[in-house]
Amino acid sequence: MDWYFPTELKEVPPLLKKEGLAPHGGGTGLLRTGLSRLKGLVDLSGLHLDAIEENNGSIILGSSSTYSMICRTLMQKDPGSILPKALSMSASTPLRNRITLGGSIASFPIWSDLMGPLIALGSQVNLLKETETKHPVEYISGNRELLKGSLITGIEYKKEWPLSWYHRHTRVAFDYPLFTLTILLKIEAGRIADSRIVVIGTRNRFTRIYELETLLAGRSADSPDPVDLMEKMPELEFPERKTASSGQLNCLLKVWLRRGIREITGGERT
Ligand SMILES: Cc1cc2nc3c(=O)[nH]c(=O)nc-3n(C[C@H](O)[C@H](O)[C@H](O)COP(=O)(O)OP(=O)(O)OC[C@H]3O[C@@H](n4cnc5c(N)ncnc54)[C@H](O)[C@@H]3O)c2cc1C
Repeated sequence: MDWYFPTELKEVPPLLKKEGLAPHGGGTGLLRTGLSRLKGLVDLSGLHLDAIEENNGSIILGSSSTYSMICRTLMQKDPGSILPKALSMSASTPLRNRITLGGSIASFPIWSDLMGPLIALGSQVNLLKETETKHPVEYISGNRELLKGSLITGIEYKKEWPLSWYHRHTRVAFDYPLFTLTILLKIEAGRIADSRIVVIGTRNRFTRIYELETLLAGRSADSPDPVDLMEKMPELEFPERKTASSGQLNCLLKVWLRRGIREITGGERT
């Protein structure tokens, strides 16, 4: 196995063009999936891609930022942000100190705590191949061939969602989630003006529940219980798991959706 240690971004595209070379972020995913198909790894730590900045109402995160760095920095720069809520619950402390943003977008495991928040926030991903391009993370997640031979250099999102709620559905705290649920809401003059609802862990890895977002628009934020909306919710397709069928996961999802919408609009937990 050959290792490469670029210190400038321009060195990376020619390396990633070579067969069998892949970027190395935190290494936690690479170790899990195995290295036998690879000839070499491109270590990203010398590229200084771990800055987390605020610019003109947007948050810009470098791709080598770890889950821990994102939690620590966003508590200051974007208090109330969905990202620290979600990432602080994932994996374990030593793993959160290693797992990077870039490696987590590129690998997008079905248990990801990162991707729901990033999709809901409408984040843009910066890619470097021959040239630099920018794509919505939701688009990249459905068109993963775009990532082949590309380096993710960072992401950017607008700080425009003050209300956020996150649920990670596990059997025990230290477990991969069976699904995660991200809810973002904007309330104006007592009514729900806009929302984003994203589930990770469905058959296509993620589902944004557009139907529910539409049903919520214009609804009074004081409505005590969104139980009526659950009847209109489409059934999502989850992969069959040993521990839970798709039907069971749909039932659990509806329970957590009701709780989430109640809590984010100021209601008490049921
Ligand atoms: C025991 C365990 C439990 C975990 N639990 C959770 C959890 O609960 N929630 C959660 O969200 N995550 C969890 N993870 C992390 C997750 O499964 C992945 O391992 C992690 O997201 C990969 O990130 P990384 O930085 O380590 O990537 P790497 O292992 O370095 O890379 C993964 C893939 O991405 C590519 N890559 C890396 N960086 C870039 C880049 N900048 N641009 C393009 N491609 C790149 C690599 O070539 C490789 O193909 C867990 C991991 C372990 C080992």
